[in-house]
Parts: sequence; C-alpha cells; structure tokens
Amino acid sequence: QGEKFTVYGNQIILSAGAVASPQLLMLSGIGPADQLTSLGIDVVKDNPGVGANLRDHPIMSALWTVKEGHIQDPGAPRTQVAARYTATGSEIRNDMKLSFNSFAIADSRIEDRLSESSQSHHADINTPIGVKISVSLQLAESVGHLRLVSSDINEQPELNFNYYSTEFDLERGREGMRKAINLGESNHFSDIISQRLQPTDVDLSNDHKLDDWILRNATTGQHISGTCKMGPDSDELAVVNQFGDVRGTTNLKVIDASIMPDCIRANTNATTMMIAERMIDLI
Ligand SMILES: Cc1cc2nc3c(=O)[nH]c(=O)nc-3n(C[C@H](O)[C@H](O)[C@H](O)COP(=O)(O)OP(=O)(O)OC[C@H]3O[C@@H](n4cnc5c(N)ncnc54)[C@H](O)[C@@H]3O)c2cc1C
Repeated sequence: QGEKFTVYGNQIILSAGAVASPQLLMLSGIGPADQLTSLGIDVVKDNPGVGANLRDHPIMSALWTVKEGHIQDPGAPRTQVAARYTATGSEIRNDMKLSFNSFAIADSRIEDRLSESSQSHHADINTPIGVKISVSLQLAESVGHLRLVSSDINEQPELNFNYYSTEFDLERGREGMRKAINLGESNHFSDIISQRLQPTDVDLSNDHKLDDWILRNATTGQHISGTCKMGPDSDELAVVNQFGDVRGTTNLKVIDASIMPDCIRANTNATTMMIAERMIDLI
C-alpha cells in the first residue's frame, strides 16, 4: 500500500482502457506539449493526438409507462431486440441502432423530472418505471476530447464528449428519436404502452426543441474509444502505428479500445479482444 517501485521490461504494453491509457501516457510526458507543460509535466514526446479523439456511441431514450396489468419481471433479460438501420441520406451503412428495453429504471434526470411532476417513483434497479426504446448513434461525426486536469494520477481526467455537435449527427438523432416514438406508439405495443414520459410532445414539436432535448439527454453508450488512435505517420493525431507502437518512442505499445481510430459500429468488447489477439500475434 503506497509503496513506489520501478518495473523494467523489454516491451511495455499499456492496456489501461480509453480513459486511463491516455492519462498514463500524458502523466509520463507523452501527449500535447502545451497541456503537459501547463501542468508541470516534463515533455518526453509532443503528441497532440493523445486524448484528442474521444469517441463513443451517444445514446438517448424514449420512455413510456406501462398499462396496468402488464407484468415486468426484474429477473427477465431486459434488452433482447435491436433494430439497426441506415439513416436517411447517410452513406454510412447501419449508422443507427434502436434498442428495446422491457424494464426501464429511473436515472437521476428522469427522477428529477418525475419529482417535478410529483409522480411517484423509486430509483432502484428492481423497480421499473416503464419501458424504453434507446436511440444510439453508431458512427458519430462529433468528436470529443480527454484532458488532464492534474499531474496527480488520482485526479480523473476531464472528458468532454461533445455529443451531437454537428448538424448531420443531430439530423440522424432527430430521425432516430421520431422513429423510436412511432414504433413505440404503433399498434404492436398498444397492449403494453400507456403514457410517454420523455421526450414530451413539446420537446417533439419542432426540430429546434428536439435538438435542445437531445443535447440535454444524450449520454454515454459506454463505448469510449479512440483516445490513442492508430494511424499513419501522415496523421498528426495518430498515437500508435499498425503494431500498436507509440509514435516517437521505442518498446512501448498501447493495446486496448483507445487505439480504435473511430468507435466501431457495434459494442466494443469483442473487437477490443480481437485487437489484442492480433497485436500479440505481431510481436
Ligand atoms: C457499464 C459498461 C457496460 C458495457 N457493456 C458492454 C457490452 O454489453 N458489450 C460490449 O461489447 N461492450 C460493453 N462495454 C464496453 C467494453 O467493456 C469496453 O469496450 C472494453 O472493456 C474495453 O476494453 P479495454 O481493454 O480497452 O479497457 P478495460 O476493459 O477498461 O480495461 C482496462 C483495465 O485497466 C485497469 N487499469 C486502469 N488504470 C490502471 C492503473 N493505473 N493501474 C493498473 N490497472 C489499471 C482497469 O482497472 C481495467 O481493468 C461496456 C462498458 C461499460 C463501462
């Protein structure tokens, strides 16, 4: 506990994930020189790409209460069906996903809204407040960034996801949310669905209001990636090459979700494992 020691190796492989890998590189002096210098960290290698390419699958949900008599079993699988499709006018195949969740629970924002309208609720994973359809942007145009706020490893870096910051992303988000609501309120679900809790009819009344709602409600799809991205030397934001070697260093690799150049159009776990398998084959 609290002991400090030095470990030597011929080949160092950093696999701390898309938040901690860029943080550890920066704490070790590899990252954007201006950021490191401002925190008193000696620059070993100036690389503006470390932390610069924060990617994710932003997600937001339409939420309904259920009709009396509709039983919601806390032990049953909650998300078993998803619809993948290509947004209108998009050239990116399968860039959208709708996930159907049969057991929605309150998060803090929903809790706040329900308490404003004095509806009863319980923020508990075994107490449903309804059902939801989540809209997830599978290949966003918007890019965020991760920045160190301190040279202390125990201080979490700042994550600015910058979700829905381009018109194309907003267009796809609006269409996705409207599709989710049309599906949820179609005859197919009329035996289940009672009243929509979010977004409200006012939120949906025009594009501007819906954009505002999206910007307040889009959150992480838990697929953080891209913060030490792989790329050719010609890309000044590339952090590692095709072997995972950190540019401008020797015997140092990063192998985890942070090296994805963009967030893949699927959940990220299996691909991260396959990246690791492939990289190890190449050593
Ligand atoms: C809540 C949640 C749900 C998810 N659900 C799914 C899903 O259903 N399907 C799917 O495909 N993906 C899912 N993901 C995404 C998936 O888990 C990640 O993409 C994947 O784990 C990334 O692997 P990684 O090796 O990059 O990072 P991680 O799995 O995060 O591994 C990094 C490891 O490094 C360790 N570490 C960090 N810093 C240090 C340090 N200083 N010293 C020592 N160790 C350190 C961490 O403790 C961690 O064990 C989910 C993610 C979250 C957060």
